[in-house]
Amino acid sequence: MANQEYKLGLIGWPLGHSLSPAIHNAALRAAGLEGNYQLFEISPLPDGKKEMVSLLDNMRHGKLQGLNVTIPHKQAVIPLLDGLTSLASQIGAVNTILLENGQLIGDNTDAAGFIASLTKFTKTIPNNCLILGAGGAARAAAFSLAPRCKQLYIAARRKNQAQQLGNEILKANLNSNLQVLPLVLSPEGIRPFLEEIQLIINATPSGMSPNVNASPWPDDISFPEHAAVYDLIYNPSETLLIKTARNAGLRAQNGTDMLVEQAALAFQHWTGQIPSRSEMLNALIDSLEYSELHTHHPKEEV
Ligand code: NAP
Repeated sequence: MANQEYKLGLIGWPLGHSLSPAIHNAALRAAGLEGNYQLFEISPLPDGKKEMVSLLDNMRHGKLQGLNVTIPHKQAVIPLLDGLTSLASQIGAVNTILLENGQLIGDNTDAAGFIASLTKFTKTIPNNCLILGAGGAARAAAFSLAPRCKQLYIAARRKNQAQQLGNEILKANLNSNLQVLPLVLSPEGIRPFLEEIQLIINATPSGMSPNVNASPWPDDISFPEHAAVYDLIYNPSETLLIKTARNAGLRAQNGTDMLVEQAALAFQHWTGQIPSRSEMLNALIDSLEYSELHTHHPKEEV
């Protein structure tokens, strides 16, 4: 739309360290579009409900063109929307709100962002994939990966959380070769399947700043020889998992590219323009370097 001023933003709480404004404002500038991306800190519902409803109404009436949603509202926002994409409905979480014919539609670009980024990293989707974790990011990874890989393993420290995710994937007929494992990767856990695994995805926060000395991969288990590691964490840029995997000769990647991809897909929906991913990535790296400089990393904390 010519001369449109884009008002975009993120709903969450708290939002002090959000990297999204830097990424989206860089995309707006690179596309030569007027506007900005703001933070809307809204308390968890029910306290923040009135404020959330009013913000969503502003978007319904065209006063905002796009909203992202983050913790703690990714599920809570669903009943306040007019519809969901099928992926957001399967995942049960919304990270992007679109306006379609006056209706607010909840989407999940984490899933598509994950697959887009993974495909750049591995070229083809490996047959045998292991997801560590069963929370929001793991659900986005699992629902997008399940129809694309042959065998999916899901390991979480609460086995019932992994089982629930596994059951939903089976029910949706996305993959019938699915195995749920405890995150304590013991002989009765991962070892019987270990050498089959070609891709390990960390979707837990283990190793995320400031707990940089933690890793979801046990010290006493060697990595599968021919696997690649994709860690969704983007801060720090080299987690302990990535470092140990690389030391063992494995290829490993962090979550910065997925963060850019999910943002780029949302931006494209809102503006109709394909944004400059390199400008978005540069803005993200600048913000991460800034936050890295201002974060204390306790030596003993795990
Ligand atoms: P979440 O919904 O809280 O889920 C986290 C999952 O990891 C849960 O299964 C949780 O189990 C488990 N977990 C938490 N701490 C753990 C630990 N120390 N060891 C083992 N398992 C642990 O969080 P999320 O939104 O999925 O985010 C997970 C990670 O992905 C975060 O680091 C986040 O920054 C990253 N992420 C990256 C992107 C990207 O674009 N790159 C996008 C989304 C998320 P319990 O329920 O038992 O605690």
